[in-house]
Amino acid sequence: MALTDAAYQAEPGGVLDVDRALYDRIAAAPRELVDSFVIPIRTGRAWEVPQGHLCRILTVDGPQVGDLNIWNRHNPRERLWASKTRQLQAAHVSLYDRLWSTLPYLRPLVTITGDTLAGYGVDAEGGRVHDLLGTRCDPYTNTLLTGEDFDFHCHSNLTRAVAPYGLDERDVHDVLNVFQVTGLNDKDQYFMKACPAKPGDYFEFFAEIDLLCALSTCPGGDLSIPMWGPDARDPIEVCRPIGIEVWKPDPAALQGWTELGVAKYAGNNGQKPVSWPGTQAQAAASAPKPASKRGA
Ligand SMILES: [Zn+2]
Repeated sequence: MALTDAAYQAEPGGVLDVDRALYDRIAAAPRELVDSFVIPIRTGRAWEVPQGHLCRILTVDGPQVGDLNIWNRHNPRERLWASKTRQLQAAHVSLYDRLWSTLPYLRPLVTITGDTLAGYGVDAEGGRVHDLLGTRCDPYTNTLLTGEDFDFHCHSNLTRAVAPYGLDERDVHDVLNVFQVTGLNDKDQYFMKACPAKPGDYFEFFAEIDLLCALSTCPGGDLSIPMWGPDARDPIEVCRPIGIEVWKPDPAALQGWTELGVAKYAGNNGQKPVSWPGTQAQAAASAPKPASKRGA
């Protein structure tokens, strides 16, 4: 294995080795629609997805990016961990990837079961779709860069969306940017490109546990107009709504699926001292010297 291969390698049969046939069967099974709504432009909404259900995020009118947050419905301290998901899966996610939760939990919140943009691949500039490299747009950064306040960035939209659940802006976290094409340029800097989604494109996932989700329809719309820099202008004409559907698959399709549970680490975090090879000699060398006996 080369050092440039994925650092986090999956054991066959382990949690990164997804049973694709099982999730294909769940996605293809008869299903019942249990919730459906449209999130208007420049706003946010939170909703619940029960364990074992499917959630579909759709571009109903054409290209538009959506900033997605996910929590354990019963414990908001357990939420999407974007950076660990980048390491365990990839910096852009698609079919069969899982979205992982924060410590001290670390389990799959969802497994991706549908992605009509899966064929986008990597474009000429190195862009890929469904972005975990970046995070939400927010008013703090905007004011930092422009000197002006704008109250409908994704951070604010998500903050308003989760307020009915007793959460506030400290609960809003690094997002999955659904339908968003991003990459790193030759200066290793983050770029965003125009969203390639067409009406009816969708991104769908299976809820591994009971979830609270929230999504913001980004005020940048399809990101075809820069929000910052010399060419920036208000991209209101490229802002479109996003649809959400929650489906209950036929329970028979879930046969063979089991809840994975939190990571099995015992949680000691090194509080019981250990003696590493060589550390006794080092400790002796660095210990304070006894007071000099000279002149005694
Ligand atoms: Zn945004």
